[in-house]
Amino acid sequence: MPLNPDLKNQLIQSVGVSHVLLYEDVSSRAKHYWNSDSREAAAIVRPANTQKVSEVLALCHRWRQRVVTHGGLTGLVDGDRTDDNDLVLSLERMNVIESIDSVGKTITVQAGCVLETVQQAAAEQHLSFGLDLGARGSCTIGGNISTNAGGLSVLRYGMTREQVLGLEVVLMDGRVVSSMNTLMKNNAGHDLKHLFIGSEGTLGVITRAVLRLRPPTYSVNTAFLACPSFQGVTESLKHLELTSAGQLHAFEVLWKSFVQLNTDPSHPATTAAPIELSEPYYIIAETRGVHIKQDADSFARSIEYCFEQGWAIDGVVAQSQQEQQKIWAIRENIEVMLEHDPLYIFDISLPIASMESYIQTLNDSVQGLWPGSTVFSYGHLADGNLHVGVATPAAEPPSTAEDQYERVNRLVFEPLQTLGGSISAEHGIGLTKKAWLSYSRNDEEIRLMQSLKMLFDEHNLLNTDRIVSLC
Ligand SMILES: Cc1cc2nc3c(=O)[nH]c(=O)nc-3n(C[C@H](O)[C@H](O)[C@H](O)COP(=O)(O)OP(=O)(O)OC[C@H]3O[C@@H](n4cnc5c(N)ncnc54)[C@H](O)[C@@H]3O)c2cc1C
Repeated sequence: MPLNPDLKNQLIQSVGVSHVLLYEDVSSRAKHYWNSDSREAAAIVRPANTQKVSEVLALCHRWRQRVVTHGGLTGLVDGDRTDDNDLVLSLERMNVIESIDSVGKTITVQAGCVLETVQQAAAEQHLSFGLDLGARGSCTIGGNISTNAGGLSVLRYGMTREQVLGLEVVLMDGRVVSSMNTLMKNNAGHDLKHLFIGSEGTLGVITRAVLRLRPPTYSVNTAFLACPSFQGVTESLKHLELTSAGQLHAFEVLWKSFVQLNTDPSHPATTAAPIELSEPYYIIAETRGVHIKQDADSFARSIEYCFEQGWAIDGVVAQSQQEQQKIWAIRENIEVMLEHDPLYIFDISLPIASMESYIQTLNDSVQGLWPGSTVFSYGHLADGNLHVGVATPAAEPPSTAEDQYERVNRLVFEPLQTLGGSISAEHGIGLTKKAWLSYSRNDEEIRLMQSLKMLFDEHNLLNTDRIVSLC
């Protein structure tokens, strides 16, 4: 539906004609990081600062125009989805690093800053930022905060929530809530930022943030290990946690089918496996510290112990940055998996002790229903977080693709209820997982989420229907 002409003129007056994109300027843009189809939206509006975001939202509020906020479009639950009735509020021009306090260890940024830019700015000041994930080159701080992103170093630094000290948010009616706190300790009443972190843009648009920085790390030690049993994986984790004096930075588990896929020599985009793939489980473990020789020796001793105990029976410790990158490519190059069609991807959490049997049961059930299917499993083991890709043959009539999607979702989600797991560990709910929210949240929790939405956005205009719908 075309944008109301009066609203269009007022938006142009506010942000300038070159920042209200219409028609082919909208359709020439891709739908998503992984989907080059044309974007559908009534307009894309690109404000340059908080004041302009406030004006745009106030106008949309007055004209009852639905708005969807866009960061780097790397979110994985369709939170960015739009149709011709939606106006996109893009934060792409709001990408300024405003200041760094190297003593207080904080960085103040606009929400459209790309994660990697923040990481680099911190490194230039001999500090580090405690968030890292595969989409680092495209995802934005606003998107990270709104999804409470997890990633590769949650084990050490926690989720995005732990990295945020202060936040500035614009509400749907244009009010600016500025809580740009820079202090580690500030218990002066409700800490309102936590309402917005992880609320997937449903309560307000994040415009600026004060982020916490960490001391730098100079030594990086990375190993790729093969384990004959899942117990070998968990014992190795326990040992590395015990012996690394807080330096364990990442501990990822990969099932063999996933490693085989990403090291398949016949595929041009894969990386060669550094060892023979004869075991069922693989680990990527990484420590980061400041004493290059001492940390390397300590890491080597810990890995050696895992071999002595038989927890790991083959593996390599990277000897260069290039070898480290090759090891991480096995984990991060999920584009190869995405070539499967149909493929159903999940981001779940569950107690570590239940993971082995959970994946085994899922594998058996999926293969029982659709012979020839493969379950690709990998994830942030230490955080109890698994990513699961279920690749099935196409549904055959009378079954439909929708039936198959529903059945795979049930197979993945239902056991999590009894195991005390979650249907979303870090990607959020968005539109994709909304139908299953009651598997992880009770009725009272969902009602409270709806009440919060009503309180912040009574006309249900902002990121409408993400997480919960209003009746
Ligand atoms: C290769 C790859 C690897 C990934 N790895 C991980 C991982 O390890 N851990 C993890 O947690 N996620 C991961 N993700 C998912 C994704 O990167 C994160 O969800 C990221 O935080 C989204 O940021 P974005 O800027 O791309 O947000 P977008 O995709 O643009 O938006 C995501 C949601 O946030 C909302 N939003 C965006 N900006 C704002 C804002 N300023 N204010 C309010 N709402 C806003 C949007 O409306 C949408 O609902 C991965 C994705 C890819 C493609």
